[in-house]
Amino acid sequence: MKQTHLPEGLHNDTLAVRAALERSQYGENSEALYLTSGYVQNSAASSAARFAMEEEGFTYSRVSNPTVTSMEIRLAALEGTEAAIATSSGMSAILLLGMALLKAGDHVICSQSVFGSVIPMFSREFAKFGVETTFVSQTDVEAWKAAVRPTTKLLFAETPTNPLTEVCDIQALADIAHGAGAFLAVDNCFATPVLQRPASLGADFIIHSGTKFLDGQGRVMAGAICCTQKQRDDMFLPVIRTCGMVLAPFNAWVLLKGMETLALRVKAQSETTLALAHWLEAQPQVARVYYPGLASHPQHELAMRQQSGCGGAVLSFEVKAPDVESARKNAFHVLDSMQVLSLCTNLGDTKTLAAHPASTSHGRLSEVQRQAAGIGQGLIRVAVGLDHINDITADLARGLQTI
Ligand SMILES: *Cc1c(COP(=O)(O)O)cnc(C)c1O
Repeated sequence: MKQTHLPEGLHNDTLAVRAALERSQYGENSEALYLTSGYVQNSAASSAARFAMEEEGFTYSRVSNPTVTSMEIRLAALEGTEAAIATSSGMSAILLLGMALLKAGDHVICSQSVFGSVIPMFSREFAKFGVETTFVSQTDVEAWKAAVRPTTKLLFAETPTNPLTEVCDIQALADIAHGAGAFLAVDNCFATPVLQRPASLGADFIIHSGTKFLDGQGRVMAGAICCTQKQRDDMFLPVIRTCGMVLAPFNAWVLLKGMETLALRVKAQSETTLALAHWLEAQPQVARVYYPGLASHPQHELAMRQQSGCGGAVLSFEVKAPDVESARKNAFHVLDSMQVLSLCTNLGDTKTLAAHPASTSHGRLSEVQRQAAGIGQGLIRVAVGLDHINDITADLARGLQTI
């Protein structure tokens, strides 16, 4: 279903507040929230045609819902893809991707530094159904190339990664995928379409956790895959319609409103993050700061090229310690000393959040997997919100200066 009331060639700032389904007959200015599970049909024949997907129209909210459709139109407009399909969470978007794309005997190549839950999704859940996954270094293009097999169907990357902000070369991975007759999926949760549009660099599928910046105020769970219209209709819709990992209309409405301020928030939060990164680098208790906006970041140049010259709004830092045990103790001390920042494992919120990845998002990984991903016990991730920079540094200084 297309939005038809806007002229061509509008800028992203305008699309972020206007791309949606046409207004209803009531002329509402803010997109309506359609809390309905079913839709009354005009005739039995029309109902049959809609269920057979021969006629456009709404039948049941597991198939489609106007508020969810508007959210999909808006996100696709921002990512520069023809279409998007919304899901109940970021993880269910990846589940949908795997179910739609993979079958027993297929092979996946996945970055070893992806979001914590993605690793067991591939290595444990999809493995049960005969899908094999090779995990490779995020930044080693040769390793991705070497892992290709005749059965490789999907390359999966996230950039920048959580929590170490490793950046991969989207264009180079797209070339490898397409040379192998495979697809490239890129999780664009950290950069958002404000900083990076993977489709323009050759990615086939763009994955979103709408829970993060798209909502932007830490309220609802949501996810999406951006793709072509044909992929949406033929590849993903049949699976979601059967399996039901759909987005609730209320959550879609929250994201619709969230996307209206996405660019403003991402730019402001990124600016504060860069200032925080410089401040952390100057603290004697900090061993290392991971942030693509810093010249010390190993993929700084690539990140600046790929991400509109901006590092994003998430950074991590390693607290100094002589051994693993005191690293954990020191990191816990910094987190427990905070009086303002939220000790919270989310990101993309207006409130600045700090978390300990090794015991939370990456707590279910084996020690070997965690070390491969480079997640140390002294590591703290900060997802910068709209708090004032001086209040953020003062709050982190409380713990750092008393280690
Ligand atoms: C949070 C997150 C996910 C998972 O999304 P949920 O909405 O929590 O299911 C996937 N990828 C990245 C990069 C994330 O930060």
